[in-house]
Amino acid sequence: MNLQKSLRIKRNYPLKDITTIKIGGVAQFFSTPRNLIQLRAILSWADKKSISVFVIGAGSNLLVSDKGIKGIVLKLSSTGFKNIAFKGNSIKAGSGVTLASLVKFALSKSLSGIEFLCGIPGTLGGALIMNAGCWGKSIGDMVNKVEAMDLKGNIIKLSREDAKFGYRKSGLKNYILLSAGIRLKKGNREIIRRNIKDYLLKRRKSQDFTFYNAGCIFKNPKVMPAGKLIELCGLKGRAKGGAFISNKHANFILNKGKAKACDVLSLMKLMKMKVKRKFGVVLEPEIRVWR
Ligand SMILES: Cc1cc2nc3c(=O)[nH]c(=O)nc-3n(C[C@H](O)[C@H](O)[C@H](O)COP(=O)(O)OP(=O)(O)OC[C@H]3O[C@@H](n4cnc5c(N)ncnc54)[C@H](O)[C@@H]3O)c2cc1C
Repeated sequence: MNLQKSLRIKRNYPLKDITTIKIGGVAQFFSTPRNLIQLRAILSWADKKSISVFVIGAGSNLLVSDKGIKGIVLKLSSTGFKNIAFKGNSIKAGSGVTLASLVKFALSKSLSGIEFLCGIPGTLGGALIMNAGCWGKSIGDMVNKVEAMDLKGNIIKLSREDAKFGYRKSGLKNYILLSAGIRLKKGNREIIRRNIKDYLLKRRKSQDFTFYNAGCIFKNPKVMPAGKLIELCGLKGRAKGGAFISNKHANFILNKGKAKACDVLSLMKLMKMKVKRKFGVVLEPEIRVWR
């Protein structure tokens, strides 16, 4: 059988279909490896051909260039990357597990500590890279180990210290993340359920779900939330092409349907420039831009 076919490698794959903001060109190559063996074989194929490797989770923190991506994009969404198990107060989950499933699993075992992640539309892999979180809590606080693969196909085991979690960042970006161990504490199932409901309600009140988006565009600087700074610059509702700054949450850029990455980048430039001019604060992107 043809090697590319047996490794499930497709050509010219539209990335806009697998990002939440629904923007971006095609990936030169794309694959959803079934398991570690297939992942290793793809990495060896890419290495031999000097092809760059990218990993995508749920695509909820990504802006892909209109020109697309030269290289191979891997999505670890097959069942081989979605195992989830618990022992005592710890959960071990594959990087392809969604945060929604992770929170649900913890609830089913009456384990508490990650309720705040509910409503974040990512995978565990993406959440670890970004050290995702909200309401003052981040996933890195609960992680005790991470299993990853390097681009040569070696398995690497990392401790929380090795992972170097910081505010919406980690030291994991050079690895393909495979799984993580998350330490929780025993809780009362009804209280956990109530906490989840409260977090979801809070999120619904503050975030804008009317159009496709990638969540918060910029990280919050120390002085004030980025959304507030952008709002005070009078930028709510400002549009470029098919993209516009949310009227509800000024740190969200929404895609009305036909927005291009260049529209979003142009609004980002405007937001950065106005906030720098008015407050002397330099906004740092939270979303990852692939170009
Ligand atoms: C409506 C909405 C609300 C949001 N709210 C929040 C919030 O409250 N808090 C918050 O922190 N974020 C929030 N986000 C952003 C986003 O959901 C999180 O950052 C999430 O953790 C990203 O996960 P993902 O799987 O979608 O990653 P992706 O967007 O697919 O990727 C993000 C980065 O992680 C890398 N990556 C993904 N998986 C792997 C892997 N297995 N191995 C190696 N690298 C990998 C990618 O290469 C990329 O660099 C929100 C987004 C939306 C759309």
